[in-house]
Amino acid sequence: MKATGSVSELHLEEMKKEIEALAIAKGFYNKPEDIPKKLLFAFIELGEASDAWKKGLPEEKIAEELIDVLFYVLDASRLACPTMNMDEVFRKKLEKSLGRPFQYGEGHRGKQP
Ligand SMILES: [Mg+2]
Repeated sequence: MKATGSVSELHLEEMKKEIEALAIAKGFYNKPEDIPKKLLFAFIELGEASDAWKKGLPEEKIAEELIDVLFYVLDASRLACPTMNMDEVFRKKLEKSLGRPFQYGEGHRGKQP
């Protein structure tokens, strides 16, 4: 699949609203001072995803842990940068990334084929 930079439908903003409703309904941390906790929880979920992959657990379990990461990242975003539209941020970042050199930022030492 070739990246085109054109993404027609994104739902990060909708997801953010659902996560906010979940946080309120479940009494989760919900203040700007809680942002570090939410970011830490995102790291913890990354670890859970990594652990699930290392243990050879089913893809469903790995995917669930990765979704947990997204939950915390989007939850942190609504508190840390509430005026930002994450769909727009995603589009801009994708465009910016597509404009960068081959294998940028991953520490590869090889040359472009
Ligand atoms: Mg988890």
